[in-house]
Amino acid sequence: MDCNEVRNLLDAYLDDELDPATSLQIEQHINDCPGCPERLQNRRALKQALQADALYHRAPDSLRRRVQLSTPAPLSVRWGDRLRQNIWVSLAAALILGVLVTAGLFQTPLLRSNTPNDSLAQQVIDSHIRSLMADHLSDVISTDQHTVKPWFDGKLDFSPTVINLEDQGFPLIGGRLDYLDDRPVTALVYQRQKHIINLFIWPQANSSASDTAPITIQGYHAISWLNSGTIYWAVSDLELSELQTFASLIRAQLPPS
Ligand SMILES: [Zn+2]
Repeated sequence: MDCNEVRNLLDAYLDDELDPATSLQIEQHINDCPGCPERLQNRRALKQALQADALYHRAPDSLRRRVQLSTPAPLSVRWGDRLRQNIWVSLAAALILGVLVTAGLFQTPLLRSNTPNDSLAQQVIDSHIRSLMADHLSDVISTDQHTVKPWFDGKLDFSPTVINLEDQGFPLIGGRLDYLDDRPVTALVYQRQKHIINLFIWPQANSSASDTAPITIQGYHAISWLNSGTIYWAVSDLELSELQTFASLIRAQLPPS
């Protein structure tokens, strides 16, 4: 992403309107760019100034009346026509939508683009990206699983298995609580050179679900598997083969299911 793209997206970024991947790209650019941090500062200051109450004034009634009186009649008639036309277009659209919904068109598999697993993959990838944004990565920072594991005690209704893979080149660097699939979950953070891996863990009652193929969204890979009624999602922008190696190393050390 270059300065121009960042400049165009700054307002949306400050208003929290961007998807996590784009927000992260902006943050990464701003970290490395000599000019953009100041631009962001200025934009933020301007936004705050514009939000200040002192800028809002209610027009006095006398002004309101003068404006109403000075508006030429033909214009208001034209607006009236336009308004009526818009209302008819809206009504027609609502009617068509109603017919489509009644016909059950929106429930056919053809129109449902996401399987539950895809939407979960999107959730874990979004969560992974959010974790890479400023200071979200770890609540407990430690390379020692004997520190990380007790940290979760009392914070969750299950006890995650915490495995360190330092000797295999995937050191554990921390952990945090996250929220996925409508519940609090464990997120363990591993590192592979400059890449971060999030390993999300939570109990999964529906143990009939089977392992699925890796899912890739916006350059991030997600691999999931089940073990003893617990679901695991490993997410990273690592090469897929390396993430698969990580997943098999973790799986090999889990208690047999
Ligand atoms: Zn820049």
